[in-house]
Amino acid sequence: MYKKNAWESYTKTDLKKLEAFAKDYRAFLDNGKTERECVTTAVSMAEKAGFRDLDQLIREGAKLKAGDKVYRNWMNKSFLAFVLGEEELDAGMNILGAHIDSPRIDVKQNPVYESDGICYLDTHYYGGIKKYQWVALPLALHGVVIRKDGTKLTVAIGEKADDPVFYISDLLIHLAQEQMGKKATEVVPGENLDLIIGHVPDKKAEKDKVKTAILDYLKKEYQMEEEDFISAELEIVPAGPTREVGFDRAMLAGYGHDDRVCAFPSIQAVLDVTGTPKYTVCAAITDKEEIGSVGATGWGAHYFENTVAELYALTKEYSELGLKRTLANSRMLSSDVSAGYDPNFASVFERKNAAFLGEGVCFNKYTGSRGKSGSNDANAEFMGAVRKIMDDAKVSWQTCELGRVDAGGGGTIAYLCAKYGMNVIDCGVPVLSMHAPWELISKADLYEAYKCYGAFLENAEPV
Ligand code: MN
Ligand code: MN
Repeated sequence: MYKKNAWESYTKTDLKKLEAFAKDYRAFLDNGKTERECVTTAVSMAEKAGFRDLDQLIREGAKLKAGDKVYRNWMNKSFLAFVLGEEELDAGMNILGAHIDSPRIDVKQNPVYESDGICYLDTHYYGGIKKYQWVALPLALHGVVIRKDGTKLTVAIGEKADDPVFYISDLLIHLAQEQMGKKATEVVPGENLDLIIGHVPDKKAEKDKVKTAILDYLKKEYQMEEEDFISAELEIVPAGPTREVGFDRAMLAGYGHDDRVCAFPSIQAVLDVTGTPKYTVCAAITDKEEIGSVGATGWGAHYFENTVAELYALTKEYSELGLKRTLANSRMLSSDVSAGYDPNFASVFERKNAAFLGEGVCFNKYTGSRGKSGSNDANAEFMGAVRKIMDDAKVSWQTCELGRVDAGGGGTIAYLCAKYGMNVIDCGVPVLSMHAPWELISKADLYEAYKCYGAFLENAEPV
């Protein structure tokens, strides 16, 4: 099934399954505009499927055995799910990894100010964005505020039809002669990405009349003080739901396909494992990939191996050597979106080694930039094994590079997983307009990713 248009292979039954899966994915995407919201959804999906909370099991000193299903919610931003296999953990696991943080605009710690009758939130963007794409469109505000008394306010404003939205202004074309001549990186400076949040003044206030009115509103509506922004994580994202694209409705325009389009099928594939798998299977859904896998919830932290250590200790006597063997013997698909070939920008692609929308899940043996720098570069032996699994399971798949040599590049979490010595390869769904507010994917590639993940969990063996 290497390099074939997946749509041409579908029967009526396939198309029915594809549409059902795409519908579930749309719901996941619409309910998960932040990493926290994705984890909340993942936890409820896992609990519904009979997975138990690992932290609870640790407290109870429970013993785990083959067939047991557990999940871990790591700081509400990363998520792990496991089904224990017949083989001991030392034989390695079959792991699906993906990330749920997406490029966006974050609110600063001291953000509220007023200028000439308009109240703003000052911001700092997160991840690689073309700043000029994030102006003049409806924006929503999602996240949490931790008040001084420790209570948590959860916010999601701008998604319901009668919600207000927020807005970042752009310069009118009539006065943009100088702006239009600037380099795209300078058209909208990062410091100017400030969010408009209000406009009506408080008559009684002596100065900062609009700001005073907005702070009053926040206090009444959310019991929130200005200082509470200090302990808040508020993310500005495009407002509104994922939409079907095209007369044939074959594509989806959504916010955060990178990398929720890999995270959702990865979680679902582990939840859908029936009976006891031969090897322990795992979905590892992580945060902070877009800013270098840093922080306590990024893949650079040790929460994954610490969680596997906990799991190990609940199945048999803990040994550090055993843990090391478990990790080194594992097989992993590090799933992240790849650049879909875009005929409008053909010059940055090399057609023979590009991923095409509709040709299925794509494997990047390596990513990186300037001579594979920062790449994982999977072993040929592992690629060989994966290739056979995909063909045997009739998955539509392709191989690709992230654009032409020297055109740019990018990295994923694969090189961090490889530090344990495990076999890992980058794999994912091709996307058009990656990191734009609304990214585009083919439903076929989403469905093939789900098929790919199921086949990998069931059939991957030590290489
Ligand atoms: Mn990504
Ligand atoms: Mn990305």
